[in-house]
Amino acid sequence: MTARPERIVVVGASLAGLAAAHRLRERGFAGSLTLVGDEPHLPYDRPPLSKQVLRGLCTADTTLPRHPDLRAEFRLGRPATRLDPAARTVELGDGSRLPYDRLLIATGTRARPWPASEEAALDGVFTLRGRDDARRLGARLQAKPRRVVLVGGGFIGFEMASTCRDLRLPVTLLVRDAVPLAAALGPRLGGLVGEVAREKGVDLRLKTEIERMEAEGDRLAAVTLKDGERIETDCLVAAIGTLRNVEWLDGSGLEADAKGLRCDAFCRALLRDGSVAAGVFAAGDVARWPNPHDDDALVAVEHWGNARAQAETVADNMLAGDASAMRRHDHLPDFWSQQFGLTIKLVGLTEGADAFAVMHGSLEERRLVAAFGRDGRTIAAASIDSARWLPAYKAAIRERAPFPPIGDALDQTRIRVQDP
Ligand SMILES: Cc1cc2nc3c(=O)[nH]c(=O)nc-3n(C[C@H](O)[C@H](O)[C@H](O)COP(=O)(O)OP(=O)(O)OC[C@H]3O[C@@H](n4cnc5c(N)ncnc54)[C@H](O)[C@@H]3O)c2cc1C
Repeated sequence: MTARPERIVVVGASLAGLAAAHRLRERGFAGSLTLVGDEPHLPYDRPPLSKQVLRGLCTADTTLPRHPDLRAEFRLGRPATRLDPAARTVELGDGSRLPYDRLLIATGTRARPWPASEEAALDGVFTLRGRDDARRLGARLQAKPRRVVLVGGGFIGFEMASTCRDLRLPVTLLVRDAVPLAAALGPRLGGLVGEVAREKGVDLRLKTEIERMEAEGDRLAAVTLKDGERIETDCLVAAIGTLRNVEWLDGSGLEADAKGLRCDAFCRALLRDGSVAAGVFAAGDVARWPNPHDDDALVAVEHWGNARAQAETVADNMLAGDASAMRRHDHLPDFWSQQFGLTIKLVGLTEGADAFAVMHGSLEERRLVAAFGRDGRTIAAASIDSARWLPAYKAAIRERAPFPPIGDALDQTRIRVQDP
């Protein structure tokens, strides 16, 4: 790798891309900096889209602040279509080629489309990933649809359900699993949030799937569930997960697939033979990296905090020269969500948890901090309306402290270890 890069190209002009650009300039990079984005917008923030924007509390213009002295060239509204790592060039949709000394791939994810394309094309069927989606969906919600049907039991589906209730819209939330949000929060906390959603008037259906949609002309009119029930609706949002934006890397030799773009501990992109692609790095939702907090198991997370932290690691490593001066990406995954008046925060990852303990507060109060354990070690902690204590658990998770953490504290005599 050349010691001093002069041309840095970032593909993906969003949170991670901009965070890396900021950091590069902060660290004194004075060369040319180009950010390529397939959306026509300058980098903007996505978390407000499912929260404040749909509620009509702010416009869909959630543009992120940029350093006044960023000196970056933005090539917007055109996708990168090809990467040639040997020639160190990126080709854009308009046929132009950008040479680079260092390249950051930060192309994130997109909403998984509704699988039946004719149904997906109906007026009234939406997904939510970008600000244009939020503007269109927000306008439809303001126009008071008869009933909103939300499909998907993840955070975005729940945040939208909460928004719909704030707007006093009838809403049915269809979840395929037996417990909502269980993948991230475990069944107990996921169940609690589901309970609150029901109390707030959400028609929450578990273990339910759509058999087909019905249209009047080109407009959605109803859905029929697998059990035969028919629900009239003129607005449906599919919040059924995401797909990683890696197709443009086909033919590049990089190890990229539906699970993400594989990189090493320094966020350097790897080729299919396991070697490092010279000068190429990855950050944000598209990246998959060895997680030091889980014995280097490969992980890809779709969290705002990781996108920023990983982008900063990449910027530092791009300027580091060789691997001996690079730092590893050791961000502890964290996440937050707001819904139904609750603020939910999570540090660590609950995957594979086999034990759960409420450390502060209680499930009954719906105000608590809970820890998750696996094989006798602390792997994650979550809070509901009680985030003040959460940072205290970060150290326990980083150290993989015995579970439950601080179990013998004098004021914690009632801690009970349960199934998650
Ligand atoms: C509605 C919503 C709510 C969210 N709420 C939360 C929350 O409460 N808490 C939290 O932690 N996280 C939340 N997130 C997740 C968070 O926003 C993401 O983790 C973050 O945006 C990831 O940033 P990124 O830069 O890696 O990817 P992205 O933001 O996905 O940006 C990637 C960019 O690259 C572009 N791109 C893709 N392919 C190409 C190509 N070939 N050429 C050029 N450009 C390309 C994309 O169009 C996009 O503009 C939310 C996400 C959404 C959608």
